[in-house]
Amino acid sequence: MTHPAHLPWHESLWTQLEQSLSQERLAHAYLLQGPAGVGKSQFAQHLAKSLLCEQSAFDACGQCKSCHLFQVGSHPDLRQLASEAGKAIGIDVVRETSSFFSLTRQYGRYQIAIITDAERMTTAAANALLKTLEEPPAGALLMLISEQASLLPITVRSRCQSLRFTLPAPEVSLAWLQQQGVESQQAPRLLDSARGAPLHAITLSSETEYENQRSAVVEGARNLYFGRTGPVDLAASYLKLGAKQALYSLWQWKAEMVRNLAMNKASADDALAQRLGQRRLLLRIDGLSAAIKRLDSQLNEQLILEDILISWV
Ligand SMILES: [Zn+2]
Repeated sequence: MTHPAHLPWHESLWTQLEQSLSQERLAHAYLLQGPAGVGKSQFAQHLAKSLLCEQSAFDACGQCKSCHLFQVGSHPDLRQLASEAGKAIGIDVVRETSSFFSLTRQYGRYQIAIITDAERMTTAAANALLKTLEEPPAGALLMLISEQASLLPITVRSRCQSLRFTLPAPEVSLAWLQQQGVESQQAPRLLDSARGAPLHAITLSSETEYENQRSAVVEGARNLYFGRTGPVDLAASYLKLGAKQALYSLWQWKAEMVRNLAMNKASADDALAQRLGQRRLLLRIDGLSAAIKRLDSQLNEQLILEDILISWV
């Protein structure tokens, strides 16, 4: 049976690790390799949490002190290291890892370091890491995560046990996407755009959802201008979409109109923008900013939405 905290296509890897653990043959270093969007990081996170858990033999209980520390991101026996966006991983990061492993363990049996985008290590960094890999301290567990493991020096790769992640079969991904609330008609197209990587498909689906919501908000505002709906009804429908999201979308839409007006750029809302004029548009943007602030302090969201929409008619 699939464990609820596991991604279904990871089950065989979990079984493999569970066996290693029960035979006390867990490696000191793992290389989690495979394409983006298949859950390598999630796997590393869940494995780290489970091994650090004070209660459970293999699966994190989510209740103990160790699990709580993990959840708030301050477990003393865990280090997560990554390169700054687009940059190489320098020797300083690796030195930080080895000095971390030299600290005394605070809780359980393990000290765990996770290095993301490991292929970005410089040669000097990789050489420094070799020392840790050759003489791992007791209880040390290093997880290297890489989308391009072939770029890692063979000396590093050969000292890590490989955990290979592959794209799940489409039917597995589609079933999972639907469990996550993606509509069955949308799922195949999203999975296709994500080149078969289910976690990318989920990101795309929330972006699509965001776009759809934004279009609905803008369409509502157009209807208000042209008298096809009233402010109270529109406020109610915005409330369903989320008041803050609606106000932000309106803010962006108005700002776009101001930009287009200033640059003489044609757009779908030309007539509207001309009619309102720049000065009034700017006033409305100010009004929206104030309303967004009011949302944080005032509970009646419907009223805030109504106020602003009434001022527009
Ligand atoms: Zn626990």
